Amino acid sequence: MVVVMKPGTAQSEIDRLVRQFETQGLQVGVTKGVDCSILGLVGDTTGVDINKISTNDSVERVMRVSEPYKRANRKFHPEDTVVRVGDVSIGAGSFAVMAGPCSVESEGQVVSVARDVKAAGARLLRGGAFKPRTSPYAFQGMGLEGLELLLKAKAATGLPVVTELMSPHHCQLFEDKVDLIQIGARNMQNFDLLKEVGQLSKPVLLKRGLSASYEEWIMSAEYIMAAGNENVILCERGVRTFETYTRNTLDVSAIPAIKRMSHLPVIVDPSHAAGKYWMVEPLALAAVAAGADGLLIEVHNDPENALCDGQQSLTPQRFENLMGKVRALVDLMGKKMVQ
Ligand code: PEP
Ligand code: MN
Repeated sequence: MVVVMKPGTAQSEIDRLVRQFETQGLQVGVTKGVDCSILGLVGDTTGVDINKISTNDSVERVMRVSEPYKRANRKFHPEDTVVRVGDVSIGAGSFAVMAGPCSVESEGQVVSVARDVKAAGARLLRGGAFKPRTSPYAFQGMGLEGLELLLKAKAATGLPVVTELMSPHHCQLFEDKVDLIQIGARNMQNFDLLKEVGQLSKPVLLKRGLSASYEEWIMSAEYIMAAGNENVILCERGVRTFETYTRNTLDVSAIPAIKRMSHLPVIVDPSHAAGKYWMVEPLALAAVAAGADGLLIEVHNDPENALCDGQQSLTPQRFENLMGKVRALVDLMGKKMVQ
């Protein structure tokens, strides 16, 4: 349920109402907008009498929220949420690019790619240390050693790091060392993992599951938020369809749809959608034009010999060319590229 307060309502009155709802066993989230405050009530609201609340002079409007997601719902929080990763802001007109190799392979590789993507305008370094692979015989990532190399690249460039968390056992390690915790497509509905990252203070990048509906995806964000971590960025990375030419089908519709349903920032990963390096640019530009708040792009200094996802990785040169176009389009969209 959402209670919209009248503009100029005194804080003491808001506090009084919050306490009243809390004694009814509800959790209350208060969003302070430019004009008015909104109280988002979560819990069993069946006993709450809308007519009675509406008679309060400070209350503008009361609405029941029929969707199963509450904290992630735009009705609870009409303004865009801005998620901060280090000193980089993502959302509400602030656009950021994260880039790097699918997998960290060596210090030389990750530091070199980090320098190149930074020079081209990326503001976060993305690299996998723990890799979810379809085959148990494929390269599984460098694990803890990979994470340490990623931190060396961070030290060399100053770029905050984004990397995938697969096991709840590594939560504390990631809380200490990682700037943005990625939950991969395959773990989007690993609810125990979502509850654990919900207890961390670091922001979370939640990728869309391989065949997840918008509601299922937002419900996964709701798990993280319900556990206390409101800093969630959603990432569209293509979904499974009947088409086999591409690795996945980029769902451009997800960008405006999710932004209507939720206040959370939405970024796009064209690399895993396309599965082909030459398709990354048109899909990236389509994502910006459709209103994405950022991009996640795989870049490798030697794609032909990459241990993972070389076929979809851009060379640093191709990435730099793409960034020139992205910058122009972000500007045209009236957004600011994080410098
Ligand atoms: C990745 O980002 O490297 C990855 C494995 O992506 P996804 O979870 O979207 O498949
Ligand atoms: Mn990859």
